[in-house]
Amino acid sequence: MAQIIDGKALSLSLKDAMKDRIIALSERYGRKPCLAVIIVGDNPASRSYVKGKITAAAYVGMDSRLIELPENISEDDLLRQIASLNADPVVDGVLVQLPLPAHIDEDKVIDAIALGKDVDGFHPGNVANLWLGRQCIVPCTPKGIITMIESTGVSISGKKAVVVGRSNIVGKPVAKLLLDRNATVTIAHSRTVDLAQVCSEADILVAAVGRPEMITSDMIKPGAVVIDVGINRVAGADGKNHLVGDVEFAGASLKAGWISPVPGGVGPMTITMLMENTIECFLRKMTD
Ligand code: NAP
Repeated sequence: MAQIIDGKALSLSLKDAMKDRIIALSERYGRKPCLAVIIVGDNPASRSYVKGKITAAAYVGMDSRLIELPENISEDDLLRQIASLNADPVVDGVLVQLPLPAHIDEDKVIDAIALGKDVDGFHPGNVANLWLGRQCIVPCTPKGIITMIESTGVSISGKKAVVVGRSNIVGKPVAKLLLDRNATVTIAHSRTVDLAQVCSEADILVAAVGRPEMITSDMIKPGAVVIDVGINRVAGADGKNHLVGDVEFAGASLKAGWISPVPGGVGPMTITMLMENTIECFLRKMTD
């Protein structure tokens, strides 16, 4: 039976440690780190993610600003809001919750965030620095995944890692972070031939697909570390929506050595890494 990688508990202990750090930082520099979050429109999933971010900021004792903009805001007005946060000396991190309404060009918005305030790590400058091995803001979900793997005590170096999914926000950056830690990395995707065979060779398996329970126990190497990134809302027998991951947890947990649950796995870690990234941006600004 696999040991559980409890993202919720790990997150809580990291956030508790941050509280003291933030008190010390505000005593030293005269103010606390501050995260600004912009939300456009009324997407319920986005609202819930944003609420989680603001709540976490309050928990660790950080300042935060929530900027709520209407669905029909023009791209120019949104860009002006970002420019004003970029110029604000007491804002350390700027995050625009994605996805944005169709009339707004997401790339333009990401590019508009000042590199030093890009707490999501999505700006092309940060992405380039990540791949070049230079100092950068590491995107939150991949950073959380690595922290979870490292929390098991299982060494990444020399291991075969398979990442299923090649998105810019999860699959590609987590593959790079695993490579940096000397794993031999395979990135699988929708055109991968014999995905089950590829996955079954993985000592470390990261599933970031967005397909409910598609990774089944036959795809898992005995003893593997399995990280389930997927967040899928499916209707349960009770007619209510439930969150399930990309991994069929009941079967996979009989085979894996370590496994992260959904919910309570990568999700809370993503938010905690956002807090860490905001502190990092604050510190860079203060020590520049
Ligand atoms: P995405 O941009 O939709 O990418 C999904 C990836 O999965 C693509 O690379 C796609 O391949 C691949 N894929 C789709 N069907 C496949 C199949 N049958 N076999 C193998 N690969 C397949 O998704 P994402 O943004 O990376 O997110 C992935 C999941 O993680 C979603 O459930 C999302 O909600 C969740 N997520 C969670 C967090 C968190 O904090 N917990 C953060 C971000 C995302 P192609 O490239 O070939 O199309």
